Amino acid sequence: MKLNVLENATQAPWYADGLKFTCSQCGNCCTGAPGYVWISEEEIRRLAEHLKLTPGTIVERYCRRIAGRFSLQERRSPEGLYDCVFLKETRIGKGRKAQVKRVCTIYDVRPLQCRTWPFWSGNLGDKDAWEAAGKRCHGINAGSRTFTREQIEALRDAEDWPENPPTSSST
Ligand code: SF4
Ligand code: SF4
Repeated sequence: MKLNVLENATQAPWYADGLKFTCSQCGNCCTGAPGYVWISEEEIRRLAEHLKLTPGTIVERYCRRIAGRFSLQERRSPEGLYDCVFLKETRIGKGRKAQVKRVCTIYDVRPLQCRTWPFWSGNLGDKDAWEAAGKRCHGINAGSRTFTREQIEALRDAEDWPENPPTSSST
């Protein structure tokens, strides 16, 4: 039994050869079924500074308290989805060529949870979980950006904002 545990611990994970991910900014990860976007007290302070508000006002206007933690509020969209309070639909271009994009209005100070998507433990548990996440997130397995095992695990385990998050446009 002990030997099995050791073998499992030293086995390479299924994503050992890296994973492809390039965000297409579709906004799907900021809406959908009800959920939680956790935000720490330090992140609330950073957001407050960014919006030139007090942390108390940020909590009052944009957060909800759940079991001693804070999560961003959600709003019902006309389609009945639960949008993050900071998601905004924007028309880019004019006429028939106009495109509707859903953008994060606090992109520069978005919480860690948003910065480390899709490299969350739940998505990395096995290949099926990764593929299932890719049904709504079209950046998964797409584009030119490949993350190494080390980068994936650093994002999965990050406790503060990573320098080059996967959902940034820089590589
Ligand atoms: S904070 Fe921004 S990136 Fe995070 S869920 Fe809300 S809109 Fe999306
Ligand atoms: S992370 Fe995925 S779901 Fe979210 S905006 Fe990018 S491509 Fe869309």
